[in-house]
Amino acid sequence: MKKKGKLIIISGPSGVGKGTLIQKLFENRELPLVLSVSATTRPPRPGEKNGIDYHFFSQNEFDRLKKEGSFLEFFEVFGRHSYGTLKQDVDNALEKGKWVVLEIDVNGAKQVLEQYPQAKTIFILPPNQQTLHQRLTHRGSESEEIIQQRLNESQKEIEQGKLYQYQIINDEISKAVQELTQVIVAD
Ligand code: 5GP
Repeated sequence: MKKKGKLIIISGPSGVGKGTLIQKLFENRELPLVLSVSATTRPPRPGEKNGIDYHFFSQNEFDRLKKEGSFLEFFEVFGRHSYGTLKQDVDNALEKGKWVVLEIDVNGAKQVLEQYPQAKTIFILPPNQQTLHQRLTHRGSESEEIIQQRLNESQKEIEQGKLYQYQIINDEISKAVQELTQVIVAD
């Protein structure tokens, strides 16, 4: 990578607690971390803010950006909504020497690795399937049908997660954050 920064890809099944882990990771102000804000056509969940949690776009806007080649990667996650990483944001941050964290799915990760083979890949695993189901249910933002779909999808994702450089089990949160930090800092 000619750019000065580091590119860090974090993936894991829905409900594994990636969001909380990443939030805790960012509490460490000593690291030059930047979280890439993805674009999506999914409607915002209560409390989610445009430009902070995601850039919320209509399908038309998303398709236009796709045509213009604005995405580093994009994918229709769960076959329902489109998600993508804006190339310009990532490149600008890398240029400034930042450590850019991409929280994206396994398909998006493959696309990024084709362009940035040096990117660090980290997969977050649940302690077991039962915990994953409980976490998805407790979140209360998805219907049982969507929860089942996400659980089925998670099996495939976990299989692909074996190809990531690092696997971290999110059982005890503070331990998982510590491991995540160590992996990110390591060269
Ligand atoms: P959620 O709808 O729960 O916020 O996210 C659903 C899935 O989309 C998660 O697995 C998340 O990692 C993935 N995702 C979020 N942003 C992106 C992105 O920019 N690109 C890709 N490929 N996946 C994303």
